[in-house]
Order: sequence, then structure tokens, then C-alpha cells
Amino acid sequence: MVDHTYLVKLKLQTAFTTLLKAESAQRGYIITSDKDLLNKFIEARNELPLMAASVDSLLIDNPEQVKNMATTKRLFRARLVWLQNVIDVIPNVTTITLDSLFTRGTKITDSIAAQIALMSNAEDRLLSMRLSEKLTQEKRAASFVLLFSIFSLIVVFFAYLRLKGESNLLKASITDNTVLESMVDKRTGELRSANEKLNVQNDLLERKNAELNSFTFIASHDLKEPLRKIEIYTNKIIRADEDHLTEDGKNNLRKVSDSIQRMKNLIDSIFSYAQIEQELEYEKTDLAQIAADALNNLSEKVQEKNARIDIDELPVINAVPEQMEQLFTNLISNSLKYTQPGKSPLIEIKSEKQFAENGDNCWKIIFSDNGIGFDELYKEKIFQIFQRAHSKSQYPGTGIGLAICRKIVENHHGHITAKSVPGQGSIFTIMLPENFK
Ligand code: ADP
Repeated sequence: MVDHTYLVKLKLQTAFTTLLKAESAQRGYIITSDKDLLNKFIEARNELPLMAASVDSLLIDNPEQVKNMATTKRLFRARLVWLQNVIDVIPNVTTITLDSLFTRGTKITDSIAAQIALMSNAEDRLLSMRLSEKLTQEKRAASFVLLFSIFSLIVVFFAYLRLKGESNLLKASITDNTVLESMVDKRTGELRSANEKLNVQNDLLERKNAELNSFTFIASHDLKEPLRKIEIYTNKIIRADEDHLTEDGKNNLRKVSDSIQRMKNLIDSIFSYAQIEQELEYEKTDLAQIAADALNNLSEKVQEKNARIDIDELPVINAVPEQMEQLFTNLISNSLKYTQPGKSPLIEIKSEKQFAENGDNCWKIIFSDNGIGFDELYKEKIFQIFQRAHSKSQYPGTGIGLAICRKIVENHHGHITAKSVPGQGSIFTIMLPENFK
């Protein structure tokens, strides 16, 4: 804009100088009649409108100056016409007339000078206005730059704080992770050493178990050995001295014989009780077949007691067959033993499927008899080793049979319960999983 103002002033001044050139060439021609000077006048006269037009294009955005320029151009034209008129009238006018013509022409030139001065002043005013505007803009720009810098600094500061916070969080989370990792490491170490201890204890237990088994085997074997001798010699005495013995003597020897038998049974029972956890070969076991095998084992007793045995449909389950056979044998033999005098034993074996939501189905096997039963007070105790609900003199036994049954059932992750009404019979209920192991 500043350049624009200077350019307007320069062009106006140049136009005015060209006018002065035209005037001086016209005067020289009038005085000397030199054709060169006339040509110079014509040249300047032709240039002048072009110069004025070039100023026009600079003033388009300023209506006041456009108006001033229109006046200036009119004056320029008037002056050029006047200069030409004077040239045209020279041959016919007197010196006095010429003088007055010059004076009038000079007045127009003065008006043009005044008009150009007016326009230059207007441009100067415009310039100073624009300069102060520029200054204000610069001030404003400086304030804006300052404010923007402060704002940028604040943004940078908060971004720094945020990043610092995040890096602290990151550090904290890294620290947390490190703490966690060290806790996990510590715990893993503890678990590992606990595991090692457990393995050592397991080995120890396995060794102890093996020792116990061999001890049970040797003990039962060694205990039976003197028993066998006592039995042999007792039988010899009975056979050889039968005629010399008193009735009391015979009775006493019979009691010795019975005691030997009981002792042998006891040793066998303890041995098989100790053995239960040894045989753990699980396989698909048909309980109907097991029941048939058990009855086969007890066929003499069944016949002797004239017992009726009703066996319902029985399932196939995953179990240790030898243990299942022992379980069935023990329960049926008890029902054949604890019978009511003068009443044929009736034994029933039934089964019911128990559906579980998780698919771990079970089978309920129910053994019932019509025997002497037992007092409900003993319903838990009879499963403990050597515990009995009846006197030995009436019903001989070791008190180990049901303890073995419970151990077998628990080996198969099941359970066994008993209930009874004395004089009416007993019911033994066993729950066994269908697919254990
Ligand atoms: P044992 O028969 O050798 O005494 P068990 O462990 O087999 O040992 O039985 C424990 C006790 O439970 C028995 O002494 C008896 O009192 C009682 N008992 C077991 N089965 C029956 C049954 N079917 N009826 C009545 N009582 C029973």
C-alpha cells in the first residue's frame, strides 16, 4: 500500500513534467519556428493521455481520488487544447494577444499543479493512515504472537505434565509388574520346594506302605505257622486220646479248635483288610456277573440255610472286579449269617440309576434281607473295624467284614450306609459312580 501511494505521486509528477515539456517545446517553437520543437511538443502531447490513464488503474479502489483524477485529466486536456490553439493562431495574432494567451494558459497549468498537489496530499493522508494502520496491525500481531507463544508454552507445559504423569504411571506399573513378578517368582519357588517336600514324603509313604505290606504278609504267615501246629497237635490229641478223655476234656479241646479257626479267620481278614488298597486295576465290571460269582462262593451256605436270593438287573460299572466280588460276598454272607431262627432267609439285590447334572452318573445298589436286623444305634459303628452289633457267642465273627466293604466302596469314590429294624431285617445301600477312573 505504501508503494502504491508513492507510485501514484510519481506518476502524477511525471505527467506534470511531461506537460511542462510540452509547454516549453510549444514556446520554443513559437519563438524559433523550429520544427524539431514542434515534434517534441506533439510527442509530449501524445504521451500525456497515456500517462494519465496509467494513474487511473492505481486509483480504482479510492472513489475520492478517482474523482480528483477526472478533474486533473480534464485540466490536462484543456491545457493541451490550449497549447495547440496557440500554435494554430500564431500567424494571425499580435504580440499582446499572444501574451494574454500565454498568461491564460499558465493559469490552467497552475490549476493542474494545484490539483496534483491536492491529489498528492490525499495520497499522503492515505499513506499516513495506512502507516498507522500498519503500526496498529503490527502491535496487534505482536500481542497475538505474544499471546500465542504464551498459549503454546502453556500447552507444552501441560503436555509435559501429562507425559510426566503417564511416564510416572508407566514407571509405577512397571514397578507394580516387577513386584508382582517377584511375588510370583517367590510363590513359584515356595510351591516348588513344597512340591519337592511332597515328593520326598510320597516316596517315604510308598516305602512305608511297601514295608507295611510285607510286614502284614510276614506277620499273617508267621502267626498262622504256630496256629497250624497247635491245630495239628490238638487234632492228634482228639484222635489218639479220644477214648481216655473226659467229656470236659473233649469240650475244652473243641473250644481250642474253634479258637484256632477263629484266629485263622481273624488273621485272614486282617490280611485282606490291609490288602484292599493294593489291587486297583479298574475295568468295565458287570455287577450281575459279580453277584453270580459271590453266590457261587457261598453256594453251600445258601443251600444249608435254604435261602432265596432275588437279584434285579445290575449295571456294568468301572471298578476293580476282585474288590466288587469281595463286597458282594461279605454283604450276602452277613445276610446268610444274621438270620432269624426258623425263617428262611430272603435276600434281595436291586439297582437304581442316579442321574447327575454334570454327567457323573451313579448307581444305587440295595442289599436287603429279612434277618434279625440290628439296633439303629450301631448303623455307623458296624463299619468300623472290630465293631459288632451282636455277641460273639451267638453269632461268631471278626468284625472286619463291613470295614472291608466300606474301604472298597470308598476306594471307588462311593459310600455305603445301613439301616435296620431289629427283627425285621437290614438294608445296606451302596452308591457307586458309573465311570470312576
Ligand atoms: P462280623 O460279621 O464278622 O461280625 P461285619 O463287619 O461283617 O463283622 O459286621 C459287623 C456287625 O454288623 C456284625 O457283627 C453284626 O452285628 C452287624 N451286621 C452286619 N450285617 C448284618 C445283617 N445283615 N443283619 C444284621 N446285622 C448285621
